Amino acid sequence: MNPFDNALSQLDKALKFLKLGEDQIARLKFPEKIISVNFPVEMDNGQKKIFHGFRVQYSSKRGPYKGGIRYHPRVDMNEVKALAFWMAIKCAVADIPMGGGKSGVEVDPKKLSEKELENLSRAYVRAIAQDIGPFSDVPAPDVNTTPQIMKWMTDEFIKIRSKQGTLSVEEKSSLMATFTGKPLDYGGSQGRTEATGRGGFFVLQALLEKIKAIPSHGKKLTAAIQGFGNVGFYIAKFLAESGYNIVALSDSRGGIAVKNPEADSLDPVSVLKCKKEKGTLNGCGANITNKELLELPVDILVPAALENQLTSENAGQVKAKIILEMANGPTTPQADEIFFKKNVTVIPDVLANSGGVTVSYFEWKQNLEGEKWTEDKVNTLLKDKITKAALEILATSRDMKTDLRSAAFITAIRRLI
Ligand code: NAD
Repeated sequence: MNPFDNALSQLDKALKFLKLGEDQIARLKFPEKIISVNFPVEMDNGQKKIFHGFRVQYSSKRGPYKGGIRYHPRVDMNEVKALAFWMAIKCAVADIPMGGGKSGVEVDPKKLSEKELENLSRAYVRAIAQDIGPFSDVPAPDVNTTPQIMKWMTDEFIKIRSKQGTLSVEEKSSLMATFTGKPLDYGGSQGRTEATGRGGFFVLQALLEKIKAIPSHGKKLTAAIQGFGNVGFYIAKFLAESGYNIVALSDSRGGIAVKNPEADSLDPVSVLKCKKEKGTLNGCGANITNKELLELPVDILVPAALENQLTSENAGQVKAKIILEMANGPTTPQADEIFFKKNVTVIPDVLANSGGVTVSYFEWKQNLEGEKWTEDKVNTLLKDKITKAALEILATSRDMKTDLRSAAFITAIRRLI
């Protein structure tokens, strides 16, 4: 399952609703630029080791390339191309003036010491420094990259630029805008860490009121969440706080569930504490496999881990009524067809997880304008923007009689061209 083939087949489906020229279609199907770098990193044993990374700059039609940096041992070019393409679509769906990009670095960060992780992060920035900047390409965190890593990267980038001449305070502040998802005390924005999860929650709220996919019997709604990293934790937390029963959670090593889904809920905050103490989710609830989690009889299923989790193999067994795609690319086009036939509503990634890039855009803007917004302002603007996007896409899906993913693509393509 090649994620870029999946992305192109999603694009083809949406293109059937639009009349575009061949050149316009070609612009959508190919990234503008691909950067591939091999760079040395000093390891704790004093030796240099070569690491490999990509930056795919997909589209700059609406503004600087924008997209996260993923650290993963099996990251590959097709995955990064797909993620960069989805970023271009996502920024257009969210209606922010940024394009699409993405990085992948082939590394298992769990096998590096803190110092090696810092050396790798700084070395990657040196390798791509001439291709990024506040008005050209603005990276952010993704799987296995954190605010601390963004801080090292920003610091390295400013050092490189300082060597080219002394920087004024304004120039330095503007260079801080080269990376988003930074720590709060280092140019980060209030609300950025929680933004993807919070945005997904706002999208779900906005759509649930309109689509009535779930009959209300006065019972608490249930949710199962795959992936318990940044995105999975926060969406679980916001759902739990608003009264959902969180019946299962998982990470790459397996999951946990409650015994009685109608009565019990996992508390994401306590589970996170337990996971930190034990180093694993194992033992923080009744054990369950990832496969079992995806097939639980819940109202809302939230894939919040990686691509290709819902496929033609398991889509038939999925019992959820709504799938809120917080991960990028969790559903293959074949699974999408099965869900459409089963009347399962799929809230697509390019809308559901666009809260992250929206607040990244707010961070970029604050850095460039030398401002610091309150958390309340960030959350209010995020809610307004993402709710508007969700309702626009729902209206397009009704007008065009198609699913929400194609509607999101149609909306984005119209803006991109
Ligand atoms: P993260 O590294 O913080 O967490 C990833 C989680 O997924 C971890 O708990 C990991 O153990 C788990 N995981 C990995 N493989 C799994 C598997 N096979 N089954 C179950 N769990 C598995 O990453 P994140 O930032 O939370 O990103 C998660 C997803 O959300 C990715 O698809 C990412 O591209 C997407 N996303 C993230 C952001 C953001 O702001 N961080 C924004 C938009 C989209």
